[in-house]
Amino acid sequence: MSQRILIIEDEKPIADAVAYSLKREGFTVTVATDGESGLSLARTEKPDLIILDLMLPGMDGLAVCRAVRREARTPIIMLTAKAEETDKVVGLELGADDYVTKPFSVRELIARVKAVLRRAADTAAADEEELVSSNLVINLAEHTVTLDGKPVSLSPKEFDLLTTFLRHRGRVLSRDVLLEQVWGEDTYIDTHTVDVHIRWLREKIEVNPSKPERIVTVRGVGYKFVG
Ligand code: CA
Repeated sequence: MSQRILIIEDEKPIADAVAYSLKREGFTVTVATDGESGLSLARTEKPDLIILDLMLPGMDGLAVCRAVRREARTPIIMLTAKAEETDKVVGLELGADDYVTKPFSVRELIARVKAVLRRAADTAAADEEELVSSNLVINLAEHTVTLDGKPVSLSPKEFDLLTTFLRHRGRVLSRDVLLEQVWGEDTYIDTHTVDVHIRWLREKIEVNPSKPERIVTVRGVGYKFVG
């Protein structure tokens, strides 16, 4: 599937030239000409990268950048004019991944787009290799778990449960959500099964399984991973 780029730029000649070249490189491109519609497209289309002009009518680029960052890690390349040196710094502080100063060559911008996308993919891959909670480490690639550096032997369901917990740490997960995540949507398994597996899992990863400090019960709701 081709990667999707959202361009938020009010100067049509620039937006058109960039869109044209990106499409030729195989990207799928959407263009917004003001901040508000750009932000709403960022939410609905979930692009792989956003090229964001700083000077926009209405909601400006910095406000858009800040709003996007509150919700997502979508890579952002800002387009700035030379006079906007301080805004460039602010943009990076707000979480833009890179900036290109106007006037720029489209070829350079595309090189930046590719570099930022590559970096984002590397980060995502690294993020996905291990899930760590202090002395508990899940190695997703090797499908192994260690506690204090010693291997913990988990059944496949226990492994999936623990992975689900670490990916949503701090959030209360109901038994139904856990069933759906670990056993799949279409299984007719009693939610009691979740409790049984959690009991087994606690035996293996809790210091005191009868007083769990990692997988805690949230009465009437479900479970929460602390750590
Ligand atoms: Ca502009």
